Amino acid sequence: MINLTINGKSVQVEEGTTILEAAKKVNIDIPTLCFLKDINEVGDCRMCVVEVEGRRGFATACIQKVEEGMVVKTNTPAVTEARRVVLDLILSNHDRECLTCTRNGTCELQKLAQEFYIDDIRYKGDRNVHEIDDLSPAIVRDFNKCILCRRCVATCKKVQGIGAIDSTGRGFTSAVSTYKNKSLNDVNCTFCGQCIEACPVGALKEKDSTGEVWRALRDEDKYVVVQTAPAVRVALGEEFGMEIGTNVAGKMVTALKELGFDKVFDTNTGADFTIMEEGTEFIERFTKGGTLPMITSCSPGWVRYIEMNYPELIPNLSTCKSPHQMFGALIKSYYAEKINVDPSKIFVVSVMPCVAKKFERTRDNMSGAGYKDVDAVITTRELARMIKQAHIDFVGLDDSGFDDPMGEATGAGAIFGTTGGVMEAALRTVQEKLTGKEAEKLEYEPVRGAEGIKRATLNINGKEVKVVVASGLKNAQIIMEEIKSGKADYQFVEIMACPGGCVMGGGQPIRTSKERASIDIRSKRANALYTIDEKSVLRKSHENPVLKKIYKEYLGEAGGHKAHELLHTSYVAREKYKLEE
Ligand code: SF4
Ligand code: SF4
Ligand code: SF4
Repeated sequence: MINLTINGKSVQVEEGTTILEAAKKVNIDIPTLCFLKDINEVGDCRMCVVEVEGRRGFATACIQKVEEGMVVKTNTPAVTEARRVVLDLILSNHDRECLTCTRNGTCELQKLAQEFYIDDIRYKGDRNVHEIDDLSPAIVRDFNKCILCRRCVATCKKVQGIGAIDSTGRGFTSAVSTYKNKSLNDVNCTFCGQCIEACPVGALKEKDSTGEVWRALRDEDKYVVVQTAPAVRVALGEEFGMEIGTNVAGKMVTALKELGFDKVFDTNTGADFTIMEEGTEFIERFTKGGTLPMITSCSPGWVRYIEMNYPELIPNLSTCKSPHQMFGALIKSYYAEKINVDPSKIFVVSVMPCVAKKFERTRDNMSGAGYKDVDAVITTRELARMIKQAHIDFVGLDDSGFDDPMGEATGAGAIFGTTGGVMEAALRTVQEKLTGKEAEKLEYEPVRGAEGIKRATLNINGKEVKVVVASGLKNAQIIMEEIKSGKADYQFVEIMACPGGCVMGGGQPIRTSKERASIDIRSKRANALYTIDEKSVLRKSHENPVLKKIYKEYLGEAGGHKAHELLHTSYVAREKYKLEE
């Protein structure tokens, strides 16, 4: 253990601890900007400078390790002035249009400018001007707001193993860019949106779709149906100051009704359909010698990744659409017939924790009923914006339930939103279908938890089934290499592009670097989903009465002809352009 003092307070910490972490132990806050725990610990921006007695110059608290007897001061006039200079320099080359910025109110730079009482820009001169990249269906890059912290670069490279963006130029021409400064649409970006979650300012954001949704809601000729993904309900409350991991499903449904949607359905029901189809597809491949391992296909960031990086493994992908796409196709076919409304007049909105779903909805072969399955995708953040625009007092809302007849879902559908959830939900159905017996235990502990890769060997009906679950694309890459080299003989693989799964998706509420360092956000959101599952009366997709009815009345057999037409899709090999090419 190391003993030191910070601002006169004694603190004892383990060797190897940084000054920043040591200060936190005694409730001393040191401001940071480029720091992102475990991802970007480089000391570049120098916002966290401190004075160490007996040393010349400043130490950088986020990387400087503590030493025995160290005397640290975090708040001297010299420190404050040094930080102020850092801020002044950043602001001098920053597009300061805060009032019209998506991050107005949640921007880490804006907060620091307030805290340091920046009431004037001291350094005036030339500013870099960048063209805004809004060509992709999912992400907008406005590098006029970029402060060169490189949190996005580190996230894309280290967490996702991709490197779609990187630092270019020097000095005044420094920038964060892509291969030949192409649009994110035309490089090896998967649209996972993890860089948006990492960005402290408004330089990266989702492509806004709220305008299209407002227009549809105001169009009297349109029948507007909304569906909400499992992970949205355990994060939306955060946008209204509620505790991380609060399940706000009831308030969310009430808010959607107040916004004017004609019907509010639950994508968890769509997830139950995905399990029926995916489970059936797995049993078919497993028992009849089809292509194995079968790899899940419900994460569009992951699907885009495999199409670009492992096209030879496309036959391993399940042909199942993701839950909201399946559900959209059913709304425009089965449900349209039920309510006798022309499907061309139905406008399906998906509320997702994900920006890649904005791209997914535009893919070919996503028009099961002859019309686009889904007409607009908005993220959790965009839904919160709509609720705020409508001046709805979200926290004070009463609860309501999803609409019939497509609003009933099982606990299996709920856990889809976290890493391991798709695998667990599928195994509950596969196990019972293969053995013909009711499972004694529904929880598959080996596929739960925070690890990026979880492997397990199960015994189903006397046969060994090797499964693996990976989240985060760097981990996905490890599994794909194992499969390609023949080192692993998995039968069933679940991949989610975002580390931790959709609960940590690129469309979820953005938490600050300090919150990410001190709160286990993933577990709080995931645990809320497991609680929904535990409390559900029905916890197996194949027991959902809505599914039973729709298969009986309309679809026929799971995996049958009509189900294939509506609920399955196809993939393409894609070119990829990496920065180093
Ligand atoms: S969306 Fe994902 S893949 Fe694309 S640049 Fe951001 S982190 Fe990288
Ligand atoms: S885009 Fe955002 S995260 Fe990336 S370097 Fe610029 S400010 Fe930092
Ligand atoms: S893990 Fe979820 S949020 Fe992330 S890309 Fe996949 S579907 Fe979207």
